[in-house]
Amino acid sequence: MSDWLEVGTDTYVLQTAGERLNTGLVVGSQRALVIDTGCGPRQGKEILAAVRQKTQLPLVVVNTHAHYDHYFGNAVFADDGATEFWAHQNCASAIDNDGDAQRRFVSGAEPEMATGVGDAVEIVVPNAIVKDQPVLVDLGGLTATLFYLGRGHTDGDLLVGTPSTLFAGDLVEQGAHPSFEDSYPEDWADALRHISALRHRYQFLIPGHGQPCSDQFVKTMADTMSTAVRQARQSIRDMPSDATKAIPVLPYGPEQSRWFIKRLKETQPQHH
Ligand SMILES: [Zn+2]
Repeated sequence: MSDWLEVGTDTYVLQTAGERLNTGLVVGSQRALVIDTGCGPRQGKEILAAVRQKTQLPLVVVNTHAHYDHYFGNAVFADDGATEFWAHQNCASAIDNDGDAQRRFVSGAEPEMATGVGDAVEIVVPNAIVKDQPVLVDLGGLTATLFYLGRGHTDGDLLVGTPSTLFAGDLVEQGAHPSFEDSYPEDWADALRHISALRHRYQFLIPGHGQPCSDQFVKTMADTMSTAVRQARQSIRDMPSDATKAIPVLPYGPEQSRWFIKRLKETQPQHH
């Protein structure tokens, strides 16, 4: 477990080993907001211990999206007294419907979570819901804004803005290829351009995994994705039966490119 990095007044980020998950912490005068809780009770307890080194205030939790490494630690925070778990409505439904099925992904790192036997292994479904309109969460003297920019990495990615910092969840991924399994590639590129357009509002931009990013990084990620969409769409038109021939020309790894093509075929953009 690494130390907290300060990113603006009363705003911190904790990068854990392994998947390099970024957990955010925003500390008001009344409550503190924890952004993403890790992949099970083991990591969740490490995150909670780190949070408790910074603040003893009651905690509010937000899950940026419904991938196990961002919410499987929720039960640890519920046991600590948290009652308010924020998420986009699509994220909350996905956790409700799909949470147990994701346990298989953590058999190595979190055996208790994988089997569902042990302390703090319940799936805690977010109960404070964000829809299309932004929601302000008052922490006392400091307000966090939870907002949705449409579909992207998943259909329920929530962003968290503070006066200094934007926590972008896995919409922005640093140090690894983006993950397309549940994605909407064309909408995702639009969401990235939208994030890039917010550059004057935030001093720090924190991705779901990896190091803090520049606006230019996000813009490049958007342009790369749009180019990949054009290349893959062309391949799907040219070789509908074997669009995987496009994999070598796509700017992602073979595994991500396979998912990228699959999701392009399965999805239609919402905003074009
Ligand atoms: Zn994710």
